[in-house]
Amino acid sequence: MTQIPPTLPLKALFDAQHHASRAQIDVPLAVRRDRLARLRALIETNAPALSDAIQADFGVRSRQLTEAADLFVLRAAIGQLLKELPRWMKSQRVATPLYLLPARAHIQRQPLGVVGVIGPWNYPLQLNLGPAATALAAGNRVLLKPSELTPHTSALMASLVQQAFSADEFSVVLGGADVAQAFSALPFDHLFFTGSTSVGRMVAAAAAANLTPTTLELGGKSPCVVDASCDLNTAAIKIAHGKLLNAGQTCIAPDYVLLPRGQEAAFEQAYAAAVAQLFPTIAGNPDYAAIVSDRHLARLTALLDEARAQGARVVDLSPSSGPTPASSRQMNPTLVFNPAPELRLMKEELFGPILPVLPYDTMDEAIAFINARPRPLAQYWFGTDSASRDRLLRSTVSGGVTVNDTLMHVAHEGLPFGGVGDSGWGSYHGESGFLRFTQQKPVLEQSRWAMGHLFYPPYGVRFDRVMGLLKRWL
Ligand code: NAD
Repeated sequence: MTQIPPTLPLKALFDAQHHASRAQIDVPLAVRRDRLARLRALIETNAPALSDAIQADFGVRSRQLTEAADLFVLRAAIGQLLKELPRWMKSQRVATPLYLLPARAHIQRQPLGVVGVIGPWNYPLQLNLGPAATALAAGNRVLLKPSELTPHTSALMASLVQQAFSADEFSVVLGGADVAQAFSALPFDHLFFTGSTSVGRMVAAAAAANLTPTTLELGGKSPCVVDASCDLNTAAIKIAHGKLLNAGQTCIAPDYVLLPRGQEAAFEQAYAAAVAQLFPTIAGNPDYAAIVSDRHLARLTALLDEARAQGARVVDLSPSSGPTPASSRQMNPTLVFNPAPELRLMKEELFGPILPVLPYDTMDEAIAFINARPRPLAQYWFGTDSASRDRLLRSTVSGGVTVNDTLMHVAHEGLPFGGVGDSGWGSYHGESGFLRFTQQKPVLEQSRWAMGHLFYPPYGVRFDRVMGLLKRWL
């Protein structure tokens, strides 16, 4: 391994990786497997410390949530990469059209070179090390810039990666928006960004200056449509689980519910019962995550204040917990009935435990409501009427969908994960992630028996005859 001082300035670190990527373009299976094995060992050995770091960053963030949503997901992803890598790396044979026979064709899969990853804070291991693992599996060098909002976790990741990898293989760069800005201006071979739509726009603009292709995993308002055919009690606990996991700080959390008019009271009762079952108390409950920062807590509180001031009915679902201690930043789950579309609550991604509920009269109205807004990252539908489900799915465009549950599509490694329009572009997970970080180089091998010379000039009768024959074959 080349020894590069880990404290190199950003540009020098990038240059070292760039140089190394050009010096070893063909990255064999054994090298990739070794990098993944080192990453897996790093996670296994340090899982408790990583979990503690996340807890320190959030104030309250249960070990079990980190185990399920960060560590388990990462282990599953790395396990799949190790298993499938030999197959995914192979050149793919492609059938040759009649008019080019007997030439042969294949697609060669090659590393892109240096991949930049900019990550968020909400699932800091899964969303930073996950894309990094996939980029390493595809044979790339990786520079990772995790979030400044999880300083303990980001610093620990940096130090562990530094111990397990040479700086020109995989490095973590720490810092805030200024560092992130300089980072996204580097001429990466691919830049993978997970974060908000507004910052995503800046990242895409910075990358465009270098013609660096990007993957943008952004956010947005993901609707949850409750059909008239739905059993509200079954739906309510699944919606509450999806909404309140990590206290709503999940990119694909159901943002708002569209509910058949007249079912508001029944839904309120079912959702309140579900919340009480999952989280009997809020303040001091170690299972219920805190809001990550004072700024985000103030933002969410302001959204509720504005909704109340405008006359929306806000239902606090844990009033018995008493006022939330400011130090813990644990925020009570709330329902907001019938908020006006102009409220910030209905315009901005919530990313917290607030659930707006909007009644609809017909499925056409619900579909029109969704289609009048930016395309969502995720969508949910609850019910038993498959014709109604199919109509919604056919009539709306979104990122991933889970039917009769929330969040679960993200856990299926065979499904590409990503948004569309304002919720992002490009997708990853499984082979789609591997291909995101891979150059698919088309190769045509001409045969010595090729008849291409029949088309060479000077043009004349021969050309016309052969072309006429070919046209009949098409
Ligand atoms: P954010 O956009 O504020 O920050 C994300 C990263 O971008 C951080 O590392 C930050 O340092 C960096 N950054 C900040 N300013 C930058 C700039 N000018 N140029 C380049 N990078 C910059 O997002 P966040 O608050 O960390 O995460 C929450 C958001 O991320 C939500 O919108 C959520 O929906 C979204 N998200 C999406 C997914 C997904 O997979 N689609 C997953 C998790 C979170």
